[in-house]
Amino acid sequence: MISIILREGWEDKTYIGDKCHGFDRITWAKITASTSTVLPKTAIGDRLTGIPFHRYVPCRVEASSDRRQQLKMIDSGQSDIMVCGRTLDVFFEDIKRFHGFLSPGVVLGGFMVDWAQELIGPDLKVDAIVETCYCLPDAVQIFTPCTIGNGWLNVLDWDKFALSLYDKRKLTGYRIWLDPKKASLFPKIDDWYMRRKSKEDFPSNVLIEEIINARRSVLSYRAIHVARSHKRKRKWDIALCSACGEAYSTSQGARCTACQGGGYYTL
Ligand SMILES: [Zn+2]
Repeated sequence: MISIILREGWEDKTYIGDKCHGFDRITWAKITASTSTVLPKTAIGDRLTGIPFHRYVPCRVEASSDRRQQLKMIDSGQSDIMVCGRTLDVFFEDIKRFHGFLSPGVVLGGFMVDWAQELIGPDLKVDAIVETCYCLPDAVQIFTPCTIGNGWLNVLDWDKFALSLYDKRKLTGYRIWLDPKKASLFPKIDDWYMRRKSKEDFPSNVLIEEIINARRSVLSYRAIHVARSHKRKRKWDIALCSACGEAYSTSQGARCTACQGGGYYTL
């Protein structure tokens, strides 16, 4: 009889034989068998048998595709990959919580942010610029303190898969981009960012697997100096609109954009 004690977050659970189901991330584990063995905190498998822990427990959560992908990565030795200071499964969880689902663009964006942070070094006050409205703004907002709301992230609608982190005082930093020459060695990534195939043509977990395999090998970077014109725009004066009476920025003219016929809603 094998007994496994797994600690998930704050909760300890004991699994005996095949009687139990379902666990999430293992952060601590103790396994006892006939030759009583205690494993270190970082162990993901049984040293004696080489079996990953999750294989001891027939587990209903294996039915979910995200979980299957995580298990596959544990099996293939990718569980020790760290990105933005997180293990891969925490990295995935953080993306899902913020972005709503595990998107290939945010996963790749995470590796871009990870590299940019490494290049620029710790303890710097950084601003960020992303060159597409899709996915990349969320990678920056999840993995750096820069958000659209605090003004440290500038989003350019250029549809280029590139981002820069830079020292907000000196305006020097690094630009990282998905390099087409390198990406051509990874057909799924290539088809995805060139929009040759629809989402239905290849499931995102297959694409994410290739992104995890590729990581930095599809990216390039250069040191840059950010032009002053791309710093945050100054705030304009505020006035009351002569038509609707609401406060608005005078940059829009004598009346607010909505009252000039440019509104996004009808009543
Ligand atoms: Zn108005």
